Amino acid sequence: DFRVRYAPSPTGHLHIGGARTALFNYLLARKEGGQFIIRFEDTDQTRHLEAGIQNQFDGLEWLGVNWDESVDVGGPYGPYRQTERLDLYQPFIDQLLAQGDAYHCYCSEAELEQERAEQEAKGQMPMYSGKCRHLTEQQKQQYQAEGRKPSTRFRVPADKVIAFEDRIREHVEFESAGIGDFIIVRPDGIPTYNFAVILDDHLMKITLVIRGEEHLTNTPRQIMMYEALGLPVPEFAHLSLILNQDRKKMSKRDESIIQFMEQYKELGYLPEAVLNFIALLGWSPKGEEEIFTKEELIAQFSLDRVSKSPAVFDMDKLNWMNNVYIKKADKDRIAELSLPHLQKAGRLPGTLTAEQEQWARSLIGLYQEQLRYAAEIVPLSELFFRDAVSFEDEEAKAVLAEDHAKIVLRSFLSQIEQAADFNVDAMKGIMKAVQTETGYKGKPLFMTVRVALTGQMHGPDLNMTIYLLGKETVMNRVNTLL
Ligand code: GLU
Repeated sequence: DFRVRYAPSPTGHLHIGGARTALFNYLLARKEGGQFIIRFEDTDQTRHLEAGIQNQFDGLEWLGVNWDESVDVGGPYGPYRQTERLDLYQPFIDQLLAQGDAYHCYCSEAELEQERAEQEAKGQMPMYSGKCRHLTEQQKQQYQAEGRKPSTRFRVPADKVIAFEDRIREHVEFESAGIGDFIIVRPDGIPTYNFAVILDDHLMKITLVIRGEEHLTNTPRQIMMYEALGLPVPEFAHLSLILNQDRKKMSKRDESIIQFMEQYKELGYLPEAVLNFIALLGWSPKGEEEIFTKEELIAQFSLDRVSKSPAVFDMDKLNWMNNVYIKKADKDRIAELSLPHLQKAGRLPGTLTAEQEQWARSLIGLYQEQLRYAAEIVPLSELFFRDAVSFEDEEAKAVLAEDHAKIVLRSFLSQIEQAADFNVDAMKGIMKAVQTETGYKGKPLFMTVRVALTGQMHGPDLNMTIYLLGKETVMNRVNTLL
């Protein structure tokens, strides 16, 4: 049976790193016909995490990543939240203590701090000295009489090489000499992440652990505990980091990267594009093609094409890819996604008349080819909402300075004025009439009108632009220029 899991510590919003880990787990589970489990690791947290859990679910659901077992849908190996599993851990704690592979440590925080400071002063790497390893019964009783509550530490074997074949990083080795006896149960009785994670992975019958590279140094600790408990060790696959556009480790407030799923949603990225984009953060398909549906990803994904070197977040690529999906998407869907942005920006009222809505939908349709994400409709369509055209582009200004410009615009204005119908189809006839009257066609005709009305050399379909600007605005803009 193939069973994988995503095990977030749900402190907040679903981050792109977590989303990628979840996605890779999901893709493999679907490909192998196995199960994808979501388990929440909350033993290192003190705050209540309902909101964090909901956020993970919402983000994944939005992406189209679904799961087979978790706190919401249940499953045969629950509960799926560590703080509800505390009873399940006890026999393993007892076993390690009875075997002598774990012991109680009565050191206080202050004592440990002092030990660290002394080691650092000597230029040593701070590491627990193991001084509680050999306490006598009498010493233990004395500590207890002082009211000290022990933590439980794992006894790290001396001079052992811990090696494993990572599915991505290949052969990985650590020496136990560099690892101090670490805490597996805190004085309050709550297990630490490193201990709880192996018990859950074991009890939930996880066969392959796919997680971020930041956990690589935890893996030898975990393997030592599996071995001490006589439990089978799962396979591991550690995903490399996602770097920001400057190829640096991203910080919390890094704006060169869109970090949270919620932000993608808010900005109007399409979930299937984001899923596609995230799939390529570290995984590369065989050929040149980069656009994949979820089903195609499931069919093609494999760990041997996941890179050891870091993935680099590329905003241009994200925007290119999202635009590919927007162009293909249903007009109504893009309209519904973009409309609220125009409203939020104050371009349109919160409640629209049928006519306003129709106009707005056409406006968004006009930009669908260009739109990279829905929120971009606001800057893109700005010229429809300003009182006067702004001429900032020197090249555009030059177009209006040409001799024929006034001739074309005068004729255009009179045609517009006389036009019986003001709709998209009528625009063709109007432009044709200007052409006949002035003798100008092609660029001198169309570019002049475009620049006069928009201030820009490039833009979407001109007839539709004229129509959506409306007769009054069109006449005002041309009149101002003349
Ligand atoms: N809870 C850990 C985290 O959020 C994941 C641990 C794991 O996958 O083993 O980083």
